[in-house]
Amino acid sequence: MKGSLTIGADLTRDVEVTCDVCIVGSGAGGAVLAAGLVERGLKVVVLEEGGYFTRADFDGDEAKVFPMMYQDRGTRTSADIAITVLQGRTVGGSTTINWTTCFRTPDRILEHWRSVHGIEGWDAQTLGPHFDAVEERLGIHTWPIERINANNDVLWQGCKALGWEAKPLRRNVRGCTDSGYCGMGCPVGAKQSMHRTYIQDALDLGLTVHADVRADRFEVDGGRVVAVHESVLDRDDGRPTGVKVIVRPKVAVSSCGAINGPALLLRSGLDRAPVGRRTFLHPVIAVPAIYERTINPFFGAPQSVGSHHFIDRGPDKVGFFLEAPPIHPVLASLAFAGFGMESYEFMSRLPHLSAQLALHVDGLLPEDDGGTVSLRSDGRLKIDYPVRPFLAEAMHASHKALTEIHFAAGADQVTSLHHPMTRMESKADIAKLDERKYGSLEHQIFTAHQMGGCAMGPDPATSVVDVDLRHHDVANLFVVDGSVFPTSLGVNPSETIYGMAHKARDTVASAV
Ligand SMILES: Cc1cc2nc3c(=O)[nH]c(=O)nc-3n(C[C@H](O)[C@H](O)[C@H](O)COP(=O)(O)OP(=O)(O)OC[C@H]3O[C@@H](n4cnc5c(N)ncnc54)[C@H](O)[C@@H]3O)c2cc1C
Ligand code: SF4
Repeated sequence: MKGSLTIGADLTRDVEVTCDVCIVGSGAGGAVLAAGLVERGLKVVVLEEGGYFTRADFDGDEAKVFPMMYQDRGTRTSADIAITVLQGRTVGGSTTINWTTCFRTPDRILEHWRSVHGIEGWDAQTLGPHFDAVEERLGIHTWPIERINANNDVLWQGCKALGWEAKPLRRNVRGCTDSGYCGMGCPVGAKQSMHRTYIQDALDLGLTVHADVRADRFEVDGGRVVAVHESVLDRDDGRPTGVKVIVRPKVAVSSCGAINGPALLLRSGLDRAPVGRRTFLHPVIAVPAIYERTINPFFGAPQSVGSHHFIDRGPDKVGFFLEAPPIHPVLASLAFAGFGMESYEFMSRLPHLSAQLALHVDGLLPEDDGGTVSLRSDGRLKIDYPVRPFLAEAMHASHKALTEIHFAAGADQVTSLHHPMTRMESKADIAKLDERKYGSLEHQIFTAHQMGGCAMGPDPATSVVDVDLRHHDVANLFVVDGSVFPTSLGVNPSETIYGMAHKARDTVASAV
């Protein structure tokens, strides 16, 4: 390895470094970009606020994993606590703990970006070679239908019985052993997350990575970033140790992901109007059901079947897509369960439980501008995300669709995650859902796909970066992560971000 990886405990005194490019964040966007820049002979420093962990650290202990590798130790929520926000915080970013589903950006979304947001040069033909390259590097391939687990089989069988569209999904894995632990870091190194692929490639060629180091702000002078100011964090409690790092780059890149990326720009005084606005979450509802047969939803490759049957519900309605997550005890209690006896009953039947997800495609209706990231008076970030009537209507519709799938697949009892729950024992009971309310704090909602907040676009009044991902006001600052999407995608976002970062390599390199 020609490069170097430093962790917080090794940084005991203030440091100042110079480089060609400083990238903040080592996830889907930051890693692919870093590898391309190092390949082009540039001196690159990556800063990552999370720790560096490898498969030797991934022992499947959920109680350990959330504090270790998730933002806010797994407790991040919207300000009204209505939405649980799952997001990674480790070298490799959310890719270290994600569930491996990969999709290219749908043509209809690229066309929407062109016709509604004026984004030229982001068509399937231009992106194709970038997707080809990342698919090759990350081993992205369709998961064989004969290897889907029992939880995915519920979605597959239910859709088939109802005549609804469903397909096996593509995953970025090599040598997967079906353990089901993707969300806790792959214990056998099969998942092709960024720390094992692009970050490692770049380290082999000379990349410098500082882990446990949080970028506090970009210092901007004369329309250029002149320094990135960072605090070294204590690995155990996440608090600053008092040691400071200053990087003086020719070009700076924010790859902190949606939510943290807009917050970093706001802390840097780069608070032009659209920053933090149009934050999208693919808000998720989950519908659990109890089966007589054993499901063991914690075992086997997660998310290997998906349905886009309801993706286009017409111009006035929010579409949604369906997937089957892994369900381990801590995740189940974070995202699903109620309180007291309800929670006990739910958790004690985990081996017989299947849960299916509906992910809602926010940002496509003209009146849907999603949520907002802003700063509290003490500098901490704040996420506001109202569930408006058009989204609540879609949640009601998706809840009914998932309940139908469960009954078609042979469920004994389907539950709603309302407070209190509604229990349904036959198709006739689905009508009970019409009496329930949908929206914030009415039922569980969560997100694992954060997008937007630093939208790209040609118009500085409505976007933060241009279509080459360069900041409209700061010539040597780029944003390369999921925050630049002007809408959500209607598919899992990681491959779009890999492809986008691959495309950005030449533009960022030419700015040095
Ligand atoms: C549980 C879970 C399951 C998922 N499953 C899938 C899936 O199956 N398929 C899919 O396509 N997507 C999935 N996703 C989402 C996907 O992984 C993300 O959309 C994608 O990784 C986002 O890429 P990014 O570069 O925008 O940010 P990230 O990959 O999140 O990387 C951002 C990095 O920046 C770091 N950072 C933030 N702020 C700072 C700062 N100030 N200083 C230093 N570092 C900072 C963070 O710690 C993080 O490591 C999942 C996400 C989660 C949480
Ligand atoms: S299911 Fe496969 S990719 Fe996921 S953690 Fe297990 S071995 Fe790794």
